[in-house]
Amino acid sequence: MQLSTLLTRFNEPETLKMAKLGRELRAQGIDIVDLSLGEPDFDTPQHIKDAAKQAIDENWSHYTPVAGYLDLREAICQKFKRDNNLFYTPENIVVSTGAKQSLANAILSVVDQSDEVIIPTPFWVTYAALVQLAQGEVKLIKTTVESGYKITPEQLEASITPKTKLFIYSSPCNPSGAVYSKKELAALVEVFKKHPQVLVISDEIYEYINYNGRTESIAQFEEMKDRTIVINGLSKGFAMTGWRLGYLAAPKEIAKACDKIQGQFTSGTNAITQRAAIVALTSPLDATMAMVAEFARRKERVMQLLRGIKGLEFTEPDGAFYAFPCVDYYFGKSDGEDVIENSSDLAMYLLNKGHVSTVTGSAFGDDRCLRLSFANSTANIEKGFGRLNEALSKLR
Ligand code: PLP
Repeated sequence: MQLSTLLTRFNEPETLKMAKLGRELRAQGIDIVDLSLGEPDFDTPQHIKDAAKQAIDENWSHYTPVAGYLDLREAICQKFKRDNNLFYTPENIVVSTGAKQSLANAILSVVDQSDEVIIPTPFWVTYAALVQLAQGEVKLIKTTVESGYKITPEQLEASITPKTKLFIYSSPCNPSGAVYSKKELAALVEVFKKHPQVLVISDEIYEYINYNGRTESIAQFEEMKDRTIVINGLSKGFAMTGWRLGYLAAPKEIAKACDKIQGQFTSGTNAITQRAAIVALTSPLDATMAMVAEFARRKERVMQLLRGIKGLEFTEPDGAFYAFPCVDYYFGKSDGEDVIENSSDLAMYLLNKGHVSTVTGSAFGDDRCLRLSFANSTANIEKGFGRLNEALSKLR
C-alpha cells in the first residue's frame, strides 16, 4: 500500500519504543527494572480524582469548547499569575489533549516550509518531529555536560539567520534536568532583542519539579511576552499523564490559530479532565510538593549510585526526574558477544543482558548519553542501578 510521504518525515518516539520492548520482555516472564519511565510513579491526588467523579455525576458529558471551558481558561490565567507573575486573559489560552498537542498546535501554527527552527540538544524528541511534520528545518545547538547542558548567548547568536522563525526549549529540561536561571535567560533575551522575527516556545511542563525553587519563564521578560508561547500541562506536576490535559499561553493571534487547528483535529479535550483540572490548578500544591520532595530524595540517591559507576560523566539535574550521564567510555567495548558502538547499542545491551530499561541519548539528539529515570521507587532504582553497574562492568 502507498502510504503518505508525511510518514517518512518523522520516526516513532524512542521513549515509547523502549517502554514497548520492556513490556514485551516482561510478557515473556523476564523481570525488567524500568528506568525508562517518563511519568511520575505516583497516583493522582485524591481531591482531583474526587472532582472528576463529581463531574461525571453532574453530567459533564457533552462536547466542550475547542479552546477549553472558559472557567478552566480563567483558572489557568490565575495559575500563571500565582506561580509565574504572568498576566493573561482567557483569549490567550488554548487547552489541549496533553502538552504534546499544545506543542503540535503551536508549531503547526507558526512554522512554514523551510523556516528554520533552533532547538538546543539534548531535547525532547517530539519538538524535532513536529517541526519536520510542518516541513521546517531543524537546526540543533549542541550543549555538553561541561556547559551544564545549557546554551550560551554566543551560541544562540551564531545560530540565528534571517530564516530563523522559532526557538524551542524546555526548562526544566527533559532529558538533562537543566534549568535556566533568570540571569541566564536575561542573557538570551539580549540576543532575541536583536532578532525580532524569532518566536520562542518555552516548554514548562516540569515547572514544579525544580529542586532549586521557582522555575523562571522567558515570557516574564516584557520584551518577550508577545513573542513567547508557554507550554504547560498537568501530566508531570499532578501525576496525570493518562488524563491528557495540556495548555498553552500565547499572543491572541497565535492562540486563535491553535484553536483553528485543534478544531479540525480533535476539538476540545475531555470534559471530565477539564473539570478536574480546575480543581488541580486552583488548589494548594501540597500533593505536588510532596512528590517533588520524594523525587529530590531519589535524585540524591541516584547521584550517589552514578558516582559508583566507572567511566560516567554527568551533571546533577536541577529539575525533572532524569539523570543523563555520558556513557561514551563504553563505546568500542564488548562483553564477548555484543559490541557497543553507540548509546542505542548500549540501551539494547542493558535491556537484553542486564534486564534494565533505559532510553538511548540518540532519542534526544545526544548519542553519547543515556537517560535514566528516577520516577520509580528507591528499591527499584537501587535494583536497576545494581544491574546497570554489573552489566557495564562486563564490557571490556
Ligand atoms: N514536554 C516535555 C518536555 C515532556 O517530557 C512531555 C512528556 O513526556 C511533554 C511535553 C508532553 O506531555 P503531555 O502530552 O503528557 O502533557
